[in-house]
Amino acid sequence: MSSPTLNSSTQPSVLLVEDEKSIAAPFAAALARGGFRPSVAHTGAEAVEMASELDPDIVLLDLSLPDIDGRDLCRQLRLDSDVPIIMVTASGTVTDRVVGLELGADDYVVKPFATGEVISRMRAVLRRARPVTTEARELAVRDLRLDLAARRAWIAERELELTRKEFDLLARLARDAGRVVTREELMSDVWDMNWFGSTKTLDVHIAWLRRKLGDDPAARGCIQTVRGVGFRFAAPDEGSSP
Ligand code: CA
Repeated sequence: MSSPTLNSSTQPSVLLVEDEKSIAAPFAAALARGGFRPSVAHTGAEAVEMASELDPDIVLLDLSLPDIDGRDLCRQLRLDSDVPIIMVTASGTVTDRVVGLELGADDYVVKPFATGEVISRMRAVLRRARPVTTEARELAVRDLRLDLAARRAWIAERELELTRKEFDLLARLARDAGRVVTREELMSDVWDMNWFGSTKTLDVHIAWLRRKLGDDPAARGCIQTVRGVGFRFAAPDEGSSP
């Protein structure tokens, strides 16, 4: 995983879909002060484009837009992604609320609202939906799947019982699937040390890892030795070789 420095990438990104510029600009500024990275879409078409381009952590969606009904837009965004969506509307009837949630929105706020309230709702939705950071939580290569937060791994749906180092090693290799990761890189990233001597520890762990991955076709040959350099996790498009 990359270094845990506090930079802008640890702030959740939010796509604000709001056609009224007099609302969008101050709202975006308030979101930025609240610890979010806002982008603003002023039309439904812009929203669809930006949602797929920016892959935001959360969407704030005004229901009344010039070019498309917000409900249809919500449904459309839902087709492509499971991004949390909070609907924003001027009307607040029970029917709207129910319809909104049925369309796949995660929450619902009614104008006029206090920005602070919206932000705390956003945080609640994000907590429920996914971790606050945009760091990949799951890593999937071929038939291997890693849950980086829970530190669990599966190969073809069979869960692997890995030690901490084995997990770190596998995750490090899988993250750069298709590319050779040098012994030095592995020692430095997994064992947290600059290593100039023997890398026997590494070889031992690789052997254990291969044994645990087993001999089923999904796993066979996925960790390849590149002599004198390091190891590589075979990329998805490569056939597995024994
Ligand atoms: Ca509007």
